[in-house]
Amino acid sequence: MDFDFTDEQKDFAKSIQEFAEKEIAPGAREREQTAEFPRNIWKKMAEFGLLGLPVPEEYGGSGADAVTTTLANEVFARHSRDMDLMIKWGSHTMICAMPIAVLGNEEQKQRYLPGLCEGTHIGAFALTEPEAGSDATALRSRAVREGDVYILNGNKMYISNAPHADVFVTFAKTTDEAGNEGISTFIVESGFQGFVRGKPLELYTPSVGSDVGEIAFDDCRVPAENLLGVEGQGFYAMLTSLGWERLAFAGFLGGMASNLDDCIAYSKERQAFGKPISKFQLIQAKLADMAVDLEAARLLTYKLAWMFDTDQVIHLQAAFAKLFTTEAALRNALEGIQIFGGYGCMTDENIGRSLWPAKASVIGGGTSEIQRLTIARMLLR
Ligand SMILES: Cc1cc2nc3c(=O)[nH]c(=O)nc-3n(C[C@H](O)[C@H](O)[C@H](O)COP(=O)(O)OP(=O)(O)OC[C@H]3O[C@@H](n4cnc5c(N)ncnc54)[C@H](O)[C@@H]3O)c2cc1C
Repeated sequence: MDFDFTDEQKDFAKSIQEFAEKEIAPGAREREQTAEFPRNIWKKMAEFGLLGLPVPEEYGGSGADAVTTTLANEVFARHSRDMDLMIKWGSHTMICAMPIAVLGNEEQKQRYLPGLCEGTHIGAFALTEPEAGSDATALRSRAVREGDVYILNGNKMYISNAPHADVFVTFAKTTDEAGNEGISTFIVESGFQGFVRGKPLELYTPSVGSDVGEIAFDDCRVPAENLLGVEGQGFYAMLTSLGWERLAFAGFLGGMASNLDDCIAYSKERQAFGKPISKFQLIQAKLADMAVDLEAARLLTYKLAWMFDTDQVIHLQAAFAKLFTTEAALRNALEGIQIFGGYGCMTDENIGRSLWPAKASVIGGGTSEIQRLTIARMLLR
């Protein structure tokens, strides 16, 4: 068993750290306060090769494997301190570009991937509906084929990047069969006739991911060639890119690491009862728990990436990694704020910014309850 990164991966991580510290971290907090999409930052990320990092090179990407992509996510999040941007990047690359890269035919890959890698197009993944969240198979969107187009009708809710995205990987029923059957996947452009972009949804704090919104398909005309994969097999097809979707949460490793860095520094500096609070064992216990959580989340997540790279069955590991990493991120944020005391509740400190993204992470992409049910189902079958 080899737990080390290659020299090439270490060098790459170093360059990402420098890039994130220099180009991304300055202004991260201010960017969160606006509803504008940070197009200049997006362009820099594209130029650095991040937007297309795991996309095959022939379509404009860098062809990085899952372990390298996970490392890039962790390091970028740790040093950019911009979870909002991480959510935008994950939605764009891991759950829009990668399903197209994995499931798309040659024409679809040629058509959509270069623009997504260059950042001229913004991507999104639109599965959830007002009446179908955890029970995604209950989706009500319908697609009916008429000649060389599908006519899509339905509504999608809580879609990251929706207020600005150009390309959506989305889902609709093409038959009335219940459950997983009859769900088809489509690539929908925001310029298609009948595509309706709703207003951005208002989140408690912009740093959750300021770009969450609704979209609707109102007799939306989607060319038949934009069917992604086989008609009616969309649900099963998505499982083939599940690893990428779950690895989109790797940014939380970096978020946890930067919080721990901050907590160690603060606890050594902050005095109470005549000594630094780091001398108190109750504070030490929090730091120790944060460090163990981070290490365990890393092991689960990198193992998932390695299993995905080595073509192993990942469903159980994907649920382990998603469940543990996101819940650990939430514990990390809460305990970190506690260590900072009153300052933890103030906007001057970064620590508080991590709370809502972490809370949203135990809901988005399949709630913790659903991850536990998935794990139990696999254990009991
Ligand atoms: C910030 C943010 C960004 C998001 N981005 C996207 C995106 O880009 N694309 C997208 O498609 N979706 C996105 N989502 C939606 C997200 O995936 C859903 O919110 C999530 O799947 C839960 O669905 P729901 O909100 O409808 O909750 P519900 O399904 O209504 O669940 C409500 C509660 O009931 C629990 N519950 C449901 N069923 C069971 C059960 N069988 N047993 C036990 N408990 C159960 C849930 O765990 C939850 O606690 C995003 C959500 C958020 C918050």
